Amino acid sequence: MRPYEELIVPIPDYPKPGIVFQDLTPAFADGAAFAAMVDDLAAHFAGAGITKVVGAEARGFIVGAAVALRLGAGFVPCRKPGKLPRTTLRESYVLEYGTDALEIHADALTPDDVVLIVDDLVATGGTTTAMVRLVRASGAHLAGLGFVMELAFLSPRAVIAEETDAEVFSLIAVE
Ligand code: 5GP
Repeated sequence: MRPYEELIVPIPDYPKPGIVFQDLTPAFADGAAFAAMVDDLAAHFAGAGITKVVGAEARGFIVGAAVALRLGAGFVPCRKPGKLPRTTLRESYVLEYGTDALEIHADALTPDDVVLIVDDLVATGGTTTAMVRLVRASGAHLAGLGFVMELAFLSPRAVIAEETDAEVFSLIAVE
């Protein structure tokens, strides 16, 4: 088992009954495990010419910024509405109850950029879909999507495939 895998803790009934929340924070807190996680994600996309990693708050910042550093790429944050100070693009996405939205600075990506979307975990694919649309609206090329963990039983790949044919790679799949 890879060092980060055994440090991810499933938390039953969080944040509400029936949900098993995957807590990655112990794997972030262990220096060797965090480095291995970031190296494994970055290694998969090394050679793809990534110029920008895009990640969403808050856990996407932790993994995304570290992967960007490893790839020699910049990091571009997607944030909840009202948090970015300059002109933004906005995409809404569906939650279990209601909707939420993510924003990106309108000038953060250019058509010359080759983008990797990174998040700690993909579940329904809703957050990722919003990020894919923001990258597309920015005119940049989306080269791939990388996750530490994929809740495969929720079929996020089918949702993502409706938006993009960019490669989806995850280190750990929960079937
Ligand atoms: P989705 O939009 O794919 O349903 O949910 C993915 C987003 O919610 C990611 O940004 C991720 O950080 C967060 N998320 C959803 N479920 C979990 C979970 O079990 N563990 C962690 N660490 N994050 C989760």
